[in-house]
Amino acid sequence: MASKTRVKKLSAELYIGRAIALLLLALLICRAVAAYASSVRDGARLYVSVLDVGQSDAILLRTGDAAMLIDTGTSACEEDLRAALLYYKIDRLDYVVLTHPHEDHIGNTRLVLQMAEVSQLVLPVADVDDPVYTLILSEAEQMGISTVAAETGQRFLFGDAAVEVLLAALPEDDNVNNSSTVLRVTYGTQVLLFMGDAEAELEHTLLEMYAPEYLDCDFLKVGHHGSDTATSAAFMAVATPTVAAISAGKYNSYGFPHKAVLENLAAVGANVFCTADHGTLTFATDGQELRLVPANKGG
Ligand SMILES: [Zn+2]
Repeated sequence: MASKTRVKKLSAELYIGRAIALLLLALLICRAVAAYASSVRDGARLYVSVLDVGQSDAILLRTGDAAMLIDTGTSACEEDLRAALLYYKIDRLDYVVLTHPHEDHIGNTRLVLQMAEVSQLVLPVADVDDPVYTLILSEAEQMGISTVAAETGQRFLFGDAAVEVLLAALPEDDNVNNSSTVLRVTYGTQVLLFMGDAEAELEHTLLEMYAPEYLDCDFLKVGHHGSDTATSAAFMAVATPTVAAISAGKYNSYGFPHKAVLENLAAVGANVFCTADHGTLTFATDGQELRLVPANKGG
């Protein structure tokens, strides 16, 4: 009898031990989730400015005293980019990401390197003999700027925001647009996708590589200036952006943004903004929701 009681007591102790262990584990998980949700400091914001640089791309991200630029726009809009960097008082950039070696994305890199102290220049995966690109590389080297080639899966922190390179690969064909570095930025619960000039082929690759929920976003920098070679219905059905921003020149000769793109975005309920209509577009998020900042309120 005595030993039976002891076994009972032991198993009761084991049971209690297990219950405590499970409780501790649950507490740890809750804390991890809470920590993730509150990783954005109180009152902090991430600002995304899709700069008005005509028919080209330059997107400025700012949070706290950290800043990052995705592409540098065409040299035809050098003065617009200069004015924007002065307006936002940018004299230091933690990262400058060049998505792909087309002039409308890398044209003002020299100006950026001259105007701001750049900690890291993230280069596109490129195997091209482009003279503009080659010049940028040699200038960056001369200026002693640290460069790194984009790589799929690369992650870096930028203030309270986390940046991941979803894709950086040479295209299967000779379409340089499809070598675009695609970025996924998370800030609190907000997910922002920056597509460069990625076209439908690359969107298809993304759909094959990632779970649908990983591509589900709140904000989309629409690929290839609103060309119908990008922003496929299949990709939109998964990305389902709440807000979509298009960088396209006013009265551009390509007719961007194309009707099919606007339809694909409308079909998933996205609010679409285009620099051709609004000029520079600034969005702010506190990590919970994202909204457009009016131009007269610092946008
Ligand atoms: Zn472009």
